[in-house]
Amino acid sequence: MPEGDTVLQTAQRLHTALAGRLLTRSDLRVPRFATADLTGRTVLDVTPRGKHILTRVEGGLTLHSHLRMDGAWRVYGPDERWRGGPGHQIRAVLGNAERVAVGYRLPVLELLQTADEESVVGHLGPDILGPDWDPDTALRNLLADPARTVGEALLDQRNLAGIGNVFRCETCFLARTTPWLPIGDLPAPQQLVTAAKKLLEANRARSRRHLYVYGRGGLPCRRCGTPISKTTEDDRPVYWCPRCQLGPVP
Ligand SMILES: [Zn+2]
Repeated sequence: MPEGDTVLQTAQRLHTALAGRLLTRSDLRVPRFATADLTGRTVLDVTPRGKHILTRVEGGLTLHSHLRMDGAWRVYGPDERWRGGPGHQIRAVLGNAERVAVGYRLPVLELLQTADEESVVGHLGPDILGPDWDPDTALRNLLADPARTVGEALLDQRNLAGIGNVFRCETCFLARTTPWLPIGDLPAPQQLVTAAKKLLEANRARSRRHLYVYGRGGLPCRRCGTPISKTTEDDRPVYWCPRCQLGPVP
């Protein structure tokens, strides 16, 4: 039985291989979705939710898969031999110019509307850009486990929905904390919620993102001029200003 961390690692590998790239290959080998074609769409992100893996693509679609007992996703280079099992065990193939992801023995594989994810994978926290946005509930959820780091709590969509890695970095900058501070130690945690809302609203209104720290490693901080720091965590880049943001660093 794959553990949560296996699912997490699988989702991270898939994310690294697929996210931000256009699908040039799409083959779902289950009867219900055999004619579905995802080519020409960009993969937005691959997110684990409990033991589920959600591959979100442009156009509001999510490919939901579950590994259960012995399912697996493998990632190959374009000329690499596929070694995950015999061909008849393949349930899904998703590929771009550099990588191809092959899903073997997946007992659950379905295409659904991203908006309907909750119906299959459980409860999401208040959606920052949704009509039901509720900052008090989001704050209460974030603080439910005070020992968790700010960065982990912000990414957990059960607390509040909508923050990916980019806005995790940006939210921490505006709230003047590093992502590694235990969230219970934040002097004014409501600033996180306010900052997240402000950033996502601003991003929705603008065609081009204005970023404070993300993608700006080595460049001067927009507030204080100190070079922005960068590290990599779980295959994701993390950026912060070592002067403006207080708290532990790796
Ligand atoms: Zn700064």
